[in-house]
Amino acid sequence: MTQPQTDPYANGVCPFGEDEAPGSGCIKPKGHDGAHLVTPGDVDDDEALCPSEFPGDDMHTGQLCTRPRGHHGTHSCTEGISGTSYTREITWA
Ligand SMILES: [Zn+2]
Ligand SMILES: [Zn+2]
Repeated sequence: MTQPQTDPYANGVCPFGEDEAPGSGCIKPKGHDGAHLVTPGDVDDDEALCPSEFPGDDMHTGQLCTRPRGHHGTHSCTEGISGTSYTREITWA
């Protein structure tokens, strides 16, 4: 009789508090007890980036422009398409 191995992260990581920053959010296992343990993740220097937000279409909304603050021309960012390994470049005026 062997105890089944219970990997606390078998169901993944708690999604609480995640945002765009890689590694951000609660670092405890999904379904954990007690308080969330949220980290800010790898926060880039947002001050250097254009603050414009994508106004939205049928697939994405609210993405932030990844060009430098004060750039000319259209705003753009590259966004993954959920459920696939594809990305699309979103541009807006
Ligand atoms: Zn949590
Ligand atoms: Zn922009």
